[in-house]
Amino acid sequence: MNDPLELTVIMYHYVRDRGDEAEAGSGIPGMLVQTFESQLDDLAKQHTFVTWSDVRMAILGNRPLPSSACLLTFDDGVLDHYINVFRILRRRKLSGLFFALERCENEGLTLPHKIHFLLAKLGLPGLRDAIWEKLDSVQRERFTQAEKKYLLRYPPVSLDKRINLLKSVLQRDLSTELNPLLGNLFEECIGSEKETARNYYLNSEQIQEMSAGGMHFGGHSHSHPWFDWIDSATREAEIKASADWLQVVETEPWAFAYPYGSLSIDAPQLLQAHGFVAAFTTNTQLRQTDPYFIGRLDGEEIAKYGHRYV
Ligand SMILES: [Zn+2]
Repeated sequence: MNDPLELTVIMYHYVRDRGDEAEAGSGIPGMLVQTFESQLDDLAKQHTFVTWSDVRMAILGNRPLPSSACLLTFDDGVLDHYINVFRILRRRKLSGLFFALERCENEGLTLPHKIHFLLAKLGLPGLRDAIWEKLDSVQRERFTQAEKKYLLRYPPVSLDKRINLLKSVLQRDLSTELNPLLGNLFEECIGSEKETARNYYLNSEQIQEMSAGGMHFGGHSHSHPWFDWIDSATREAEIKASADWLQVVETEPWAFAYPYGSLSIDAPQLLQAHGFVAAFTTNTQLRQTDPYFIGRLDGEEIAKYGHRYV
């Protein structure tokens, strides 16, 4: 990449209506389909939508982007992207870049997604209490220490901040032991985790159909860890899992989205070694000077608060 790219990238997660096939009674909220559609209308007034192929060519220096270029990206490879997003983008003759997790059909949910289901079912105090009951005394001490640490980062002024505080404890400090423990809690409170996961993530037929319909795919790791929490060998294994999966899905070189937008110094090198030419963060920036640090705006935040750039 020779010159900085003037590129607006929008990031989406769940796009669903209550009770539709993607939400499936889980109670997990997302951007409403109508909100997504009207945001696309607004974006279309001020931007030229581009595809991952366009962005890749610009990064490789083969062809510049049009002015006011905008790329739509979707994280986590959830069913919403097939049921709702693909249908809408195809009708509008648009393309999206979908950062899906590398998942096998018989695997359960990743830790953050287990937490989404359990939070929707039990609420914040209910989930915290249920976890606390399952911890031994050593784990309780670590839980308490971790909570204290994140209290500085997430002063509990709103429900969102309190949720982020608990999520940080669960997804970072206690992530290793909590994964099986939350699996048990999931079975007790919700049902079969594997069955849920099968209907929650995109399957290979849906991915194929989306790809044939002009959609693009990128990597988002295997288990959705915080990259600044795991060691370098684990980071490489997570990146390699994405590369192995993308071999059969998308033309190389690929794009990657850091799970939670979490960065580490060695990630660009590791990504480059495994066939990735770009990586997307959750930092809000519109002028992209480093292809392994491309900023994105959160579509849900734009819908909630508006944005001077849109
Ligand atoms: Zn994600």
